Amino acid sequence: MERFEGKVVLITGAGSGLGRAVALQVAKEGAKLSLVDLNEKGLEETKSEVQKVALNAEVLLVTANVANEDDVRNYVDKTVEAFGTIDGFFNNAGIEGKQNVTEDFGSEEFRKVVDVNLNGVFYGMTYVLKVMKEKGSGHIVNTSSVGGIRGVGNQSGYAASKHGVVGLTRNSAIEYGQFGITINAIAPGAIMTPMVEGSLKQIGGEDGWEEVGKAFVEPNPMKRFGKPEEVGYLTAFLLSDQAGFVNAAVVPIDGGQSY
Ligand code: NAD
Repeated sequence: MERFEGKVVLITGAGSGLGRAVALQVAKEGAKLSLVDLNEKGLEETKSEVQKVALNAEVLLVTANVANEDDVRNYVDKTVEAFGTIDGFFNNAGIEGKQNVTEDFGSEEFRKVVDVNLNGVFYGMTYVLKVMKEKGSGHIVNTSSVGGIRGVGNQSGYAASKHGVVGLTRNSAIEYGQFGITINAIAPGAIMTPMVEGSLKQIGGEDGWEEVGKAFVEPNPMKRFGKPEEVGYLTAFLLSDQAGFVNAAVVPIDGGQSY
């Protein structure tokens, strides 16, 4: 039997990068999908890719801003209306924000990043946990980052928000283990997605970003970027019942960068 047969998986940031990769992986293994993103076009693209690998997959698309609590309540309600429950939640939407040293970072930019990356994750957990607690099971995976484990420089908002995701994950995992719910985080290093490409372009421009990328991965023990599908494999495991005793973990997927 497929790991996700009959299971409902809710994914935010599903219109691109890691969210899309996880959607494809769990769909291949039988999941029904509720896909959330700000970007409607990205969601449509993910849906059509899902339907190439899982012909009969049931897919709900919800356009929502995870930084808006009403939108979050709405995407959770719509998922439950459509599928009756939520078994797995990949709480993943995030932004990087502009790069700058702390004194020049700017409070507005700081708030913007924290609103999406930390508050958005908190709102998602708030409403999904109610559903999972009622049925006495569920798996949540929050997306932190290497920048949530150690400092990376020029990213005050990002690092603060991703460290916050680690704290939130561990805190809630302790509260909800007794209800059969696991809550973990992944901490990706540099995975080649549109977000990373955008950040390399901020530094190297359209012509120079690939060279900047090569220099960027040189200190990594694996000397390469991670692939979105590699995050798909790890996250699918953590969202599955096979990971039933993995709780409060922050799992790096970074080629060894954080050590
Ligand atoms: P991405 O930019 O390819 O995808 C992020 C998606 O989130 C986009 O589709 C975007 O539209 C959506 N999104 C952004 N803000 C939103 C909001 N307010 N409401 C709803 N949707 C919103 O980036 P990615 O690389 O796939 O990143 C996914 C997550 O992984 C993020 O939380 C990011 O911080 C984290 N991460 C990525 C890397 C990496 O190297 N790619 C490393 C560490 C952590």
